[in-house]
Amino acid sequence: MKSRAILLTLDGLRRDQMTADTTPNLVAFSRRAETFADYRTVFPSCTRVVSASIATGCFPARHELQGNSMALMENGALVPHDAGRPDFLQHKREVTGRSLAVPTLAERLSTRGGAIIFSNVSPGAAYAHDPDGYGHVYHRAGSFGPGRVPVPDGDQLRVEPDLNGDRTMTERFIRDVLFEQRPALGVLWLGDPDATQHNHPLGSDEYLEALRQSDLRAREVIDAVEACRAGGEDILLIIGSDHGHQTVIGVIDIEHELAVAGLKDSEVSRDVVVSSNGTSALIYVHPDHPDRVRALGAYLNRVDWADHVIPAGDLHLVGQAPHQHLAFAVSMRASDEVNAYGVPGTSLVAKPASGKPDRLGCGQHGGLGTCEQSPFLMISGAGFAAGEMRRDCAAVIDIAPTVLAHLGLPAEGMDGVALQRSVT
Ligand SMILES: [Zn+2]
Repeated sequence: MKSRAILLTLDGLRRDQMTADTTPNLVAFSRRAETFADYRTVFPSCTRVVSASIATGCFPARHELQGNSMALMENGALVPHDAGRPDFLQHKREVTGRSLAVPTLAERLSTRGGAIIFSNVSPGAAYAHDPDGYGHVYHRAGSFGPGRVPVPDGDQLRVEPDLNGDRTMTERFIRDVLFEQRPALGVLWLGDPDATQHNHPLGSDEYLEALRQSDLRAREVIDAVEACRAGGEDILLIIGSDHGHQTVIGVIDIEHELAVAGLKDSEVSRDVVVSSNGTSALIYVHPDHPDRVRALGAYLNRVDWADHVIPAGDLHLVGQAPHQHLAFAVSMRASDEVNAYGVPGTSLVAKPASGKPDRLGCGQHGGLGTCEQSPFLMISGAGFAAGEMRRDCAAVIDIAPTVLAHLGLPAEGMDGVALQRSVT
């Protein structure tokens, strides 16, 4: 019997926000799946980074997509980048010789049943699943098949990054991937409830509607998988999220603060480059300025807006490495206090270098705060017990080896481990 795996991601859904009222279909599914009470994400807890970690089974130290925004050393200069751009990983390959530094599931499965990814988040996050064109990636910024050859015009995914777009994309995924193409791996990555949480407070009416809609998308996928199973197929169904959200209670312009403190030549200079990752930041120091590192460390440990200051020598503790002259990672100050709607978890955010800063009172993520580090995971299929709750350590890096185990394929070279109780 041919096995296959389906991964559904509800972007940004916090584990503690799933209740019989807010997400009845997911709660019902939890009785038929195994759930993971301590499921964790990576750092920064950002969609592009998690997408790469789910695709590769590795921490950012290994796959090298360090952040939603990050710097690259180019011709002797530190250049800040938005990793959400459609061409970022293509550009990174030109600069560093590789897009991601380790193989993706799409590559591993290219001759073993293939992978098809549908994603309604940023282009950079969607293409992180398959930057080198081994499978199919469907995204509103352009859909590609093997060799990164664009799919025919009529096959392109033309949806908006909103609840309606998620619904249209889900319909297509179910029809094309679940019932017709039947690849070894199908990935459906919804943009909500993340998109809504960035623009509305957690607990608000808009937020609750986004949970309700995303929960309905989950039911559509669950029902379709059940229909395929009824036809005799062996399908591993993984449903989860990539990170949670915290409520934004303040915006810190770190580059401005560093310039004022005399630790950076100016707000736009390239001696020190700060890449905002929402509720965290990556701070790069050009090797021509080694004296900056000690002074920056002393300063960052003194300010009241940083909870965790991780120097280069300790980056491995959070799954990172000092690639591209990354000198510090900072998780912004977080608390368990409640917002105006009684939802716990607040954070300061780092102002992005370009684009709009985050909205006060709305959601954001990226750091090590309790709620943003608490995504959810439920798995049904061979090796998982219906209705059981696991409390052992499980993380987003375990998804790829779990998929490969279900398909009977080796998962060498991954940081994560397969989660099946017994692999048959
Ligand atoms: Zn996300």
